[in-house]
Amino acid sequence: MKKLLVVILALVLALSLAACNGSGSGDSGDNKEPENSTQGTDGDGSEATSGGKVGVSMPTKSLQRWNQDGDNIKKQLEEAGYTVDLQYAGDNDTDLQVTQLENMISGGCKVLIVAAVNGEKLGSALPQAKEEGVKVIAYDRLIMNSDAVSYYATFDNTKVGALQGQFIADSLKLSDPATKGPFNIELFTGDPGDNNVNFFFNGAMDVLKPYMDSGKLVVLSKQTEKAQCTTVEWNTEKSQSRMENLISAQKYGPKDTKLDAVLSSNDSVAQGVTNALVDAGYNKDNFPVLTGQDCDVASMKNMLKGLQTMSVFKDTRTLAARAVMMVDAILKGSEPEINDRKTYNNGTGIIPTYLEDPLQCTLDNYKELLIDSGYYKEAQLQ
Ligand code: BGC
Repeated sequence: MKKLLVVILALVLALSLAACNGSGSGDSGDNKEPENSTQGTDGDGSEATSGGKVGVSMPTKSLQRWNQDGDNIKKQLEEAGYTVDLQYAGDNDTDLQVTQLENMISGGCKVLIVAAVNGEKLGSALPQAKEEGVKVIAYDRLIMNSDAVSYYATFDNTKVGALQGQFIADSLKLSDPATKGPFNIELFTGDPGDNNVNFFFNGAMDVLKPYMDSGKLVVLSKQTEKAQCTTVEWNTEKSQSRMENLISAQKYGPKDTKLDAVLSSNDSVAQGVTNALVDAGYNKDNFPVLTGQDCDVASMKNMLKGLQTMSVFKDTRTLAARAVMMVDAILKGSEPEINDRKTYNNGTGIIPTYLEDPLQCTLDNYKELLIDSGYYKEAQLQ
């Protein structure tokens, strides 16, 4: 008799729980099932759909990847039952980003996902977040010198640089003792306010520097320090004009001084380099090895035309999913999964980080990486 009573009570409890969260019956059409795809909600995940408001702050609308990141994060957060305030800081406008963050905090966001325009300059917004108990996840770019940052979700940025450096080394067969060289190379990286630049540049230089030291690789401009190779705001026009200056100063050209390779930390910078090289008479038959990152449509089109040699694929869907998992853990009071607790010190201490894996993309594997995975449609790259 007692047992029967317990069973009945358990049944009543189960039914009323199901009625509360609406997840069991599929009656409301409120689209809650997809949360499983991003957060791995299990049997006891009834809190997951209680939601909350999450602020998502992206640095610019003018670069393809951030639009994809923003869209992916918003979509996945909404699927997981959260309300999203997604803002783009115009075109890399630091002041606007600070205002947008302040509005997100006063608007009731419980967690902020922030890809900073400049990781050093988020001003008053971060102390305010800390004061109000709003958790901050640095997204892709680390936010520096702030103790308001709880977690960091990014790709392995050192590996990005290493993939680029190794690609150049392999393409020129630098490790082969029979290869004498010397080969001429010029170096380009990104915005000096972006902490990632340190990792991209150093990751590539770890591979290339020994060959520079031995004389197999030569930088005729002698611009080998990171500070000499930066591109403010990762701007295509700026990298184009620096490449144009290098071309005229060193007389690089298909019929002049040979240029064998250009290290570029990303695609928007590589596109400027390509423009300058094409203007100087280079074409697919004599194009220097040129690296990039992001697999931007414009760069993939260049690659298909033989006017860029590789890119690094960082699947924005994966990073978005990682950030969503972090939000979900934070708002459920648990600890997000972390796989790096040593690499990223933002000046206030090590920030617990999850590093996703970047992949080399060339003409040999772009179909598998980008088309078969549904990242792009083939027609977009034509
Ligand atoms: C990102 C790159 C991007 C660059 C320019 C970096 O912080 O990691 O993927 O190409 O910013 O937006």
